[in-house]
Amino acid sequence: MEKIQMTTPLVEMDGDEMTRVLWQQIKDTLILPFVDLKTEYYDLGLLNRNATDDAVTVDSAKAALKYGVAVKCATITPNAQRMVEYPELKKQWPSPNGTIRSIMGGTVFRTPILIDAVKPAVRSWKKPITIARHAYGDVYKAVELRAEEPGECFLTFRGESGAEQTVSVQKTAGPAIFQGMHNKCDSIRQFARSCFQYAIDQKEDLWFSAKDTISKTYDAEFKRIFEEEFENYKAEFARLGITYFYTLIDDAVARTIRSEGGYIWACKNYDGDVMSDMVSTAFGSLAMMTSVLVTPDGKYEYEAAHGTVTRHYYKYLKGEKCGTNPVATIFAWAGALQKRGELDGLAPLERFGRQLGEATLAVMQKGVMTPDIARMAEPGFTVRAVLTDEFLAEIKAELAARIA
Ligand code: NAP
Ligand code: MG
Repeated sequence: MEKIQMTTPLVEMDGDEMTRVLWQQIKDTLILPFVDLKTEYYDLGLLNRNATDDAVTVDSAKAALKYGVAVKCATITPNAQRMVEYPELKKQWPSPNGTIRSIMGGTVFRTPILIDAVKPAVRSWKKPITIARHAYGDVYKAVELRAEEPGECFLTFRGESGAEQTVSVQKTAGPAIFQGMHNKCDSIRQFARSCFQYAIDQKEDLWFSAKDTISKTYDAEFKRIFEEEFENYKAEFARLGITYFYTLIDDAVARTIRSEGGYIWACKNYDGDVMSDMVSTAFGSLAMMTSVLVTPDGKYEYEAAHGTVTRHYYKYLKGEKCGTNPVATIFAWAGALQKRGELDGLAPLERFGRQLGEATLAVMQKGVMTPDIARMAEPGFTVRAVLTDEFLAEIKAELAARIA
C-alpha cells in the first residue's frame, strides 16, 4: 500500500513519562504504517527543556506559528517534589502550556469524546459540549490586600498623559479584604474572534456568558466586544445555520443542564476553569477529553487534556504492562493530521485524520477499551478491558480495514 503524502511538516512537541511512551507507540502503530509522516520535532521532555534553558519550548511555539499546526504530548510542570526527583534541574521551569499559550495567544477549546458505553451524568446530554476558556487576566492576575483597621480602599488608574481616574472600592469599619483585577480589551477581542472562528470550523452554535447585570463596566465590556466582533462573522453564521447568543452565566448553567449538548460555551477565565471540570467530569473522564489551542488567525495546537499519568509510568518502569488510555492523545494526532490535510488541500491526509478518530471510536463502541473506561461502562453493556498494546492493535486493524 502506498503511504499518504504530506507537504508541510506538523510541529511535533514530545513530552514526558507515560504519555511519552504512548506517543511513540501511537506513531509506530497507527501513523507511520499509513502516512509518510513529516514533522519538525521538538523534544519538550523535562530534561531537554532543562538542557536548553527552556529555549526548546519557545522555539516549538514559534514553529507552531510558522507552520500553523502542532501536536503536543503532555509534559511535566516541575514543582518542589520534581526538583527532588530530578536533581539536575536548574530551576522550576514554567508550564510549557503557559509558555506556548503566551507566544501563540488564542483560546483553548476542550471537548469530551462520547461513547455509548458511558452515559453522561446529565441524562439529557447526547452531544459533546465544548468549553472555550478565556486564558488571560481576571482573578488569575489580580492583586489583593487585607486591612486590619477601619478605613477606605481606592482604585486608581493613572494614564501616561497624567490624567487620573479614582473610585472608592469601599469604606470599611474593621478588618476587610480587597481585590483589584483587570483584563485587556485586545485580549477579549482575540478571545471573541477565536470563538467565532472555531464555531464556524465546527459548525456549532456559540454561547457566551458573563454577568453584565451586576458588572456593568467589566463584564459589559466582554459582552460589547463579542457583539461588535460578531458583526464580522454574522453572514458566515447565517450561511452555516448556526447561532451566537449571549446569556447570563447563571442562565447558561441552567440551560446547559437542560440541553442536549452539541454547542460551544465560551466562558470568562474563572467560569471556564470551573465549568470545564464540571463538564468533563459529568461526561466521564479526563482521559477522554481533547484540547486544542486556536488563534484568531487560524493556527492550531492539539493535545490531550490529561497529564503525564505519572503513577502508570512508574509501574511501566518496573516492567508492568499498563492499561493507560491513549484515546485523547490519538485524537490530538487525528485532529492535527486532519487540519494539516485541510489547510494543504490534501484530501487523503484529511481523510486519514478523520478515519483515525473514527476507528478509535468504533473499537470502543464494540466494547473494547482500557480499564479506566471499562470500569465506568453502563450495566448491560458488554465490555472487554484490554491493556494499551492490545487496544492500539485493535485500532490499527480497524483503521486498516477502513482504509482498504
Ligand atoms: P494526570 O497525569 O492527568 O493523571 C492523574 C490520574 O488520572 C492518573 O493517575 C490516572 O488515574 C488518571 N488518568 C489520567 N490520564 C489517564 C489516561 N490517559 N489513562 C488512564 N488514566 C488516566 O495528572 P497528574 O498526576 O496530576 O499530573 C502528572 C503530571 O502531568 C504532572 O507533572 C503535571 O505537571 C503534568 N500535567 C501536564 C499537563 C499537560 O501537559 N497538558 C496537564 C496536566 C498535568 P489512576 O492513577 O487512578 O489510574
Ligand atoms: Mg482548574
